[in-house]
Amino acid sequence: MALQNDFIQSVPTNLYINGQFVAATGGARFDVINPATEDVLASVASADVADADAALNAAEKAMADWAARTPRERSEVLRKAWELMDARLEEFAHLITLENGKGKTDAMGEARYAAEFFRWFAEEAVRADGLITHAPASGARIIVQHKPAGLAVLVTPWNYPAAMGTRKIAPALAAGCGVIIKPAAETPLTMLALMPLLEEAGVPAGLVNVLPTHRPAEVVDHMLHDPRVRVVSFTGSTAVGRKLLKAAADQVLTPAMELGGNAPVIVFEDANMDTALEGVMLAKMRNLGEACTAANRVYVHEDIVDEFTRRLTQKMSALKIGNGIDPSVDVGALVNLSTLEKVEGFVEDAIAKGAKLECGGQRLPGKGFFYPPTVLSNVSADAACVHDEIFGPVVAIQTFNDQEDVIRRANDTEYGLVAYVFSSDMKRALQVCERMDYGMVGLNRGLVSDPAAPFGGSKQSGLGREGGHDGMLEFMETQYISATW
Ligand code: NAD
Repeated sequence: MALQNDFIQSVPTNLYINGQFVAATGGARFDVINPATEDVLASVASADVADADAALNAAEKAMADWAARTPRERSEVLRKAWELMDARLEEFAHLITLENGKGKTDAMGEARYAAEFFRWFAEEAVRADGLITHAPASGARIIVQHKPAGLAVLVTPWNYPAAMGTRKIAPALAAGCGVIIKPAAETPLTMLALMPLLEEAGVPAGLVNVLPTHRPAEVVDHMLHDPRVRVVSFTGSTAVGRKLLKAAADQVLTPAMELGGNAPVIVFEDANMDTALEGVMLAKMRNLGEACTAANRVYVHEDIVDEFTRRLTQKMSALKIGNGIDPSVDVGALVNLSTLEKVEGFVEDAIAKGAKLECGGQRLPGKGFFYPPTVLSNVSADAACVHDEIFGPVVAIQTFNDQEDVIRRANDTEYGLVAYVFSSDMKRALQVCERMDYGMVGLNRGLVSDPAAPFGGSKQSGLGREGGHDGMLEFMETQYISATW
């Protein structure tokens, strides 16, 4: 415990503006709670619009120099950031567990994934391509090149306090932009803890600013109406994404939106059962189900549903739940009481509509927001969990016996982030994947996130892609010069 207190006391809790940790202008602070104990972990400065102005001024100044640097120089700073973060994954994982509640394995996985964005975009920074060609009719030259888009406002959720930030910061810096990041109020510490490390890597003062706040609507809206801002990159719920899209319209900002999901999983009768079980466990239980990519609806062919449900229930029941700082724990705490109550509500609703509870289903007594791994079978198509994100450790199983019918049901949602397909018949599997109205599909895999791949959704799951080659495009403007010489 003493060790934990010393560690937490070393984590910065003030705003990070122009390379300095500073108190909020108005002096406001808010508490960050440890979800496993419900204790106050830290009191964090809460930015207001004056702080946002200071951050914008700093970012504007720093960006002028940064954008003029060579891609190679920018790349080397990002590479150094990866090296420094990679050397401290344990510390970042520990902090992620303390403020988010997830278990150690999930937290280590996130810290590694988060660091990888610096390495990936260090490599991408020197690969921004352009074009020079002859105009077919006039004979003029067409020169096409990419320029940094301008200042970017980055808004991130609590479920991946490190990775959702680095997935935006790294491409923005690679492209030459300055940023202001507003982390979620539940989990601001990880982003603040990253800043000294970026400084050490050579990120100039003012280029990256961090503004925790308990008044996100006011502070973010203020920044989105500053004429220096050109990009808003948001990860979070579709409801908030819609609001930011409306605000972005006023200045015609580039919107990058990573929003909610409602991922279907289709397990065909010819799937390898072990692969499908492993895939569903990963797609559901990574991050305790608090992931936009989490398996939300599991459609299992009726010929194999009994065996699948029995074996999945065994696996889910065997997971150890508890405070995530204990390395033997598989399932940590949900982030807060409202998330826990929402999960509980989904389970009660499904049972009231005819679902069978195979395991779990009761929150743990005592302190901490603990909900056990839960399996529901025979879930009715009108259960709320079939239409909305569960965001918790609950598998909702339905059956099917017809391929066309299950494709229709899988696509019957306003979301389009990710779908998962399990089948050993590759021809059929690829045909079904192509018919999924989703930005991403996991084929015989329960994990799609990869810094080298374009992450993002269609329909109301978002606009744009993060990671891969596309990730930098959000932060770049295409300029075309028509030239004669
Ligand atoms: P949220 O939308 O409530 O909050 C996200 C961020 O927006 C937070 O920083 C919050 O403070 C801020 N915010 C809230 N209201 C705002 C407003 N009016 N103006 C400006 N900012 C505002 O989401 P959450 O509960 O933190 O995260 C869970 C959601 O995020 C889920 O829907 C999940 O699917 C989604 N998510 C999506 C992805 C993806 O890549 N598609 C990744 C992770 C999470």
